[in-house]
Amino acid sequence: MRAVVVARYGGALELMERPLPRPAPNEVLLRVRASGLCSTDLHLLQGRMPLGGLPRIVGHEIAGEIVQVGAATRDWKIGDRAVVAIDVVCGKCRHCLTGETQRCTAMLRIGFERDGGHAEYVAVPASNLVVIPRELADDAAAILPDAVACMYHSLICQGKVGVGQKVLILGVGGLGIHGVQIARIAGADVLATSRRAERLKIAEQFGALPVNPATQSLKEIVAEFTRGEGVDVVVDNIGTRASVREGLALLRPGGKFLVIAYLDESFEIPSLPLFKTEQEIIGCRGSTKQDLTQVVQLVQSGRLQPIVGARYPLAEIGAAVARLERGDLIGRIVLTCS
Ligand SMILES: [Zn+2]
Ligand SMILES: [Zn+2]
Repeated sequence: MRAVVVARYGGALELMERPLPRPAPNEVLLRVRASGLCSTDLHLLQGRMPLGGLPRIVGHEIAGEIVQVGAATRDWKIGDRAVVAIDVVCGKCRHCLTGETQRCTAMLRIGFERDGGHAEYVAVPASNLVVIPRELADDAAAILPDAVACMYHSLICQGKVGVGQKVLILGVGGLGIHGVQIARIAGADVLATSRRAERLKIAEQFGALPVNPATQSLKEIVAEFTRGEGVDVVVDNIGTRASVREGLALLRPGGKFLVIAYLDESFEIPSLPLFKTEQEIIGCRGSTKQDLTQVVQLVQSGRLQPIVGARYPLAEIGAAVARLERGDLIGRIVLTCS
């Protein structure tokens, strides 16, 4: 089968012929219909996280149709459509037992430590599957596990965003545009930043107050938006030293700063202001199967809209990566695989 792989760190994502995966008894074989392209795939290419043996098929936002069912798999049958939770977890460690599977100490992630979905087929555990509602298209379903469920996990589970809160979303890209929607569903008032007019326009359509920090004073707008108190929650989709410094300065005492991106390797936090304000800096890692189930329901109910920006066939991976790097689109890029 054809697949997009990391063959060596620092190279390019390459289209390659790979053997058809064989599902284990507790797994299914999916014909991949759509696979979301994430900037994490480019981080993986650079070797920022070890992938185990190479070549590794990447792609962790997968929607497909079951074509083979492992011998020990019940509840699923050939022809079922499903979207795939990313983390294959142990189910036994203290984090799994408390439902915080995103912290599982023994997880193997699909598209990271095990082969992913930028391929014609992928074998995944049946326990990672969530059914795709009939009315939801494959490409829209594919982006739910990361671009959407990750924002749900960050805002709702980690940030505890609720009614009447003031939320600042730094960066309206593939994640941020879904973050705006989820914060609004939770009942929050939302400020969203971008330097691109078209992104601000769509953020506004989804109910955020748009801010272009290149031409407007974010500090003044936040002061007005919060009557000088500072926002309750900052969602940092940028992950630079500057975004952390700026975000913390706009956060109210006791507010939560959510770390979602990690473009810079580290950041500095002035200790005395942190001591005085009791601000919380919270890591937000991926999403759980439960988060994915919740966002599927929100999409099915019509309240949440997954935004697919562009579609490329698997064979045009080079053009898709170039488009992702240019960043001149709104929403997620999806590879159509079969
Ligand atoms: Zn991702
Ligand atoms: Zn575990």
